[in-house]
Amino acid sequence: MKICSKNLDDQNIWYPFTQAKTAYKPLTIVKGDGAYLIDKDNNSYLDLISSWWVNIHGHSNKHIANAITKQAQTLEHTIFATCTHSPAINLCQKLHSIMPSHLKKFFFSDNGSTACEVAIKMALQYWQNLGQTNRINLISFSGGYHGDTFGAMSMGKDSGFFTPFNKFLFNVFSIPFADTNLHEDEETIEKKENDSITILKNYLQQNGKNVAAFMAEPLVLGAGGMRMCRSSYLNKIIQLLKKYEIIVIFDEVMTGFGRTGTYFACEQIEEKPDIICLSKGLTGGFLPLALTVTTQKIYDAFLHEDNSKAFLHGHSYTGNPIACSAAIASFDLLTNPRTKENLNLIHDCHKNFLEMLLSSLSRIVKAPRIIGTIVAFNLFDEENNYNYKKTNYLKQKFIENGLIVRPLGNSIYLLPPYCITKDQLYFAYNKIINILKELFT
Ligand SMILES: *Cc1c(COP(=O)(O)O)cnc(C)c1O
Repeated sequence: MKICSKNLDDQNIWYPFTQAKTAYKPLTIVKGDGAYLIDKDNNSYLDLISSWWVNIHGHSNKHIANAITKQAQTLEHTIFATCTHSPAINLCQKLHSIMPSHLKKFFFSDNGSTACEVAIKMALQYWQNLGQTNRINLISFSGGYHGDTFGAMSMGKDSGFFTPFNKFLFNVFSIPFADTNLHEDEETIEKKENDSITILKNYLQQNGKNVAAFMAEPLVLGAGGMRMCRSSYLNKIIQLLKKYEIIVIFDEVMTGFGRTGTYFACEQIEEKPDIICLSKGLTGGFLPLALTVTTQKIYDAFLHEDNSKAFLHGHSYTGNPIACSAAIASFDLLTNPRTKENLNLIHDCHKNFLEMLLSSLSRIVKAPRIIGTIVAFNLFDEENNYNYKKTNYLKQKFIENGLIVRPLGNSIYLLPPYCITKDQLYFAYNKIINILKELFT
């Protein structure tokens, strides 16, 4: 495998999150098999980022593929108001059985951004419906990411991705995110956490009664650079918000479905959210589908003789039965005890990887961190730097070595499908260490 010429093809396609002028040509993938993607020349690549974090059980999984085939031949789609169907009903019952039990009303949409839009709109309308029309302020973490639609962009406006649209985004108060890594001592961490909490406290003293909702990615800011925090810190934040009855929204689009070691990240935090957003791993990475899940209390605030109090939101493909069937099949695999064993195995291997990195590349590897199946570190700098110049080159180096890894600036992270084996992981670890050695020592 050699580095391909620059300039994407392409006659017709405009690729996402890509500067076509400087990007390398994309791989033409013809087949997926477990943790591997295979290109037209029969080269295989380990998909170490689960194809943008969606694929949890491996590519072309037979159980999910069969469920999709069967459903497509039975009922492909129907309008989801006026009609309902058992794939949607069964999916929600199953998911409810593994979620905090107060989260029980499931609203469908198609992707992570819309799951967040729905959550924001639900929270805002909730207060309008209750007549508390002053509750219009929103809070989020600086550096958080919630998707690319306007509400989601507003909530994540400090992520640095949305500069051209800044003028069009609505106002959200953002608080610093107290991220931690394995090299920091208790004192440093506490100071950061306290600083962040103090900023929130001061804001709430002035504006608490005007705040509708707080939105956050629990435990890990994903696109913001795989930055991780302690659950006790989030717990304190939520306790504070609850004093003012502010709706807490957890965006578990990335952290959901086992990624952080538990089914949902919120299980690791004592205080519970009022709304959670799910997508990515929901269908095992086969089809677009999303859910915004909330409480009976929030649902009830929309019940009224007056139609305008209803939540007037929906999408053409809402609750698509084929996608729901894929999600049910993915649920079967997720709740199989073998999956839990795999999650533990990946976690243990990742821990070892960090030790390998720190023993051979301590000058280069900064801010090492790990949670569940995610391991991350920064190159050269404690801080994340999305505009790190060597990122494209690194991506291509990984590809040449049969690895699909997409560093977020200077942050390198691995987030593999749960079916990956120990041998495959160590193959990747050794390659990565060799590539970094070759480039930087
Ligand atoms: C990816 C992501 C989104 C957006 O999901 P899309 O399906 O890409 O729209 C939202 N929130 C988080 C935490 C994400 O990781």
